[in-house]
Amino acid sequence: MIYLILWVVLCILVGAYASSKNRSFIGFMLLALILSPLIVFIIVALIGAPDSQKANNLRKCPACAESIQKDASFCRFCGNKLEESPKAVEKSNTTYSSGSNNKSGLDI
Ligand SMILES: [Zn+2]
Repeated sequence: MIYLILWVVLCILVGAYASSKNRSFIGFMLLALILSPLIVFIIVALIGAPDSQKANNLRKCPACAESIQKDASFCRFCGNKLEESPKAVEKSNTTYSSGSNNKSGLDI
């Protein structure tokens, strides 16, 4: 009986470990229950959290909703010019306004 309790506790620990890696707590806990907490722990350790890291480097294009690099200055799918961090936006806005003023001045 004590082994069963220990098994379940280990499964919960593996689930908690998986959730710390942005993985499904319930999913990996159940997987540990079925397989073995040790095996699932190794699986979680091996797979880590590559998806979340990737997702952190990606963001959605406001124009076409495709996933693009966080640091991208324009969308590779639709070519939409992207605003960066709020600070960069402020900076680029001032350059834009002066740029457009120059342009309109040239046009006239
Ligand atoms: Zn786009």
